[in-house]
Amino acid sequence: MQLLDGKSCSQQIRQEIAEQVDQIKSSGGRAPHLVAVLIGNDGASQNYVAMKTRDCDEVGFNSSVIHMNNATTEQKLLDTIAELNADSDIDGFIVQLPLPQHINESKVILAIDPKKDVDGFCPENVGNMNLGLPTFISATPNGIMELLRRYDIKTEGKHCVVLGRSNIVGTPMAILLSRNTKPGNATVTIAHSRTKGLKELCLTADILIVAIGKTGFVTADMVKKGTVVIDVGQTRVSDTTRKSGFPNVGDVDFENVKNKCSYITYVTGGVGPMTRASLLQNTLKAYQRK
Ligand code: NAP
Repeated sequence: MQLLDGKSCSQQIRQEIAEQVDQIKSSGGRAPHLVAVLIGNDGASQNYVAMKTRDCDEVGFNSSVIHMNNATTEQKLLDTIAELNADSDIDGFIVQLPLPQHINESKVILAIDPKKDVDGFCPENVGNMNLGLPTFISATPNGIMELLRRYDIKTEGKHCVVLGRSNIVGTPMAILLSRNTKPGNATVTIAHSRTKGLKELCLTADILIVAIGKTGFVTADMVKKGTVVIDVGQTRVSDTTRKSGFPNVGDVDFENVKNKCSYITYVTGGVGPMTRASLLQNTLKAYQRK
């Protein structure tokens, strides 16, 4: 079994981006600028935004956080998005999900200028991805594609099972892997909570991508020998024995599954850092497109 090391891969990507930013700055240009809009005090969201800001600092981007309180109205958020759309000093921005219940997520996503939608969630960017046109691809599936590419994992002709069909992970992942690209050209099955015979289906997978948010869901008896397993899940659990107090737990029973795999990611240092690296890549792309 070989660990797919998203931490070192993302470090490489950040290094590559930092070199490009150095070149931009040394030829008199301004640094790319990413803004994160954070609503409320959810610990996990605050943590993700802090990490994204740290990443920006490391590669030499400008970054800012707009922190709005939990009672912020939908209209106030939409007004803020309109200001960000119009601000020529800002190349890209994200609205950290999930949003408080009183705010309509679709309305918010539709309000973002697709040219600044570095999360790749807007219909125009999703449509471009479907058609294989240049676009911002949703950061998590894009990061997984990059991980497969950098480890030179063969996907052509393989059967890939994607567990989970969310708009931001499962569905774009399935589309990207089925396209005529490298990596790609896989035969993809997408599964969800209504899928019957999930265990038998998973046992047919050469590549198993798990994005359902159920800790330890994929067990050793669901994985055939030699499978590539990508664990997207990260559920924050309370554990006072751990330094952070709130470690992330994956969707795969890593300890028991790992020995059956050819390659596997671990919840820490796997997909998460690759997702953040993709956001940096998209921000640089937004800057370069201007
Ligand atoms: P989501 O929107 O909640 O979607 C979950 C999907 O899993 C749904 O399609 C659901 O099916 C399916 N599902 C739930 N229970 C299932 C079951 N028992 N069997 C089969 N399918 C089942 O979640 P998401 O946003 O895609 O995120 C999934 C996980 O990835 C979460 O743990 C999240 O924190 C994590 N995540 C990690 C990163 C990262 O950077 N590492 C990024 C994004 C998300 P239905 O459609 O039928 O309900």
